Amino acid sequence: MTTSASVPTGPDNATNGPGTVTDRLVDANERYAAAFTDPGMDARPVLHVAVVACMDARLDLHAALGLELGDCHTIRNAGGVVTDDVIRSLTISQRALGTRSVVLIHHTGCGLESITEEFRHDLEMEVGQRPNWAVEAFRDVDQDVRQSMQRVRTSPFLLHTDNVRGFVFDVKTGLLREIDPA
Ligand SMILES: [Zn+2]
Repeated sequence: MTTSASVPTGPDNATNGPGTVTDRLVDANERYAAAFTDPGMDARPVLHVAVVACMDARLDLHAALGLELGDCHTIRNAGGVVTDDVIRSLTISQRALGTRSVVLIHHTGCGLESITEEFRHDLEMEVGQRPNWAVEAFRDVDQDVRQSMQRVRTSPFLLHTDNVRGFVFDVKTGLLREIDPA
């Protein structure tokens, strides 16, 4: 297995037409800003909640959870894994910006189910340097959510670990399924 270009590519219409995809985003931002009015909020999330989720492109957190601008912190990475850096963000979220509950969202069909820790080995063979991070690949999404909940609940840095709930988002139906922490 190679560590790059192993993911099938979709339609390449995003790279067609004038300019790069980033140019397209910058153009969209100009339209966004033209209609934007200052919401007059400070940095503390209105709902006092932090959502940790996978970076998956099919997961539109704000739409799926009925969230509005300013409602929550969203912390995302590959898998929605509770890494040290996620704990760093949650610690700042709780201690400096007043959030009190944590929602963890993994999902069906995650890319991390299709790779293994061999990814690190292959990467080392390719570039001559072993990454200092774990891939955090998994086979059982429910168990992975449980492990993530446990990592949040047992963190010594967090002020609020009593309201931590974990879910699997179904990318086919849009529905959340709650995972029992036990
Ligand atoms: Zn994912």
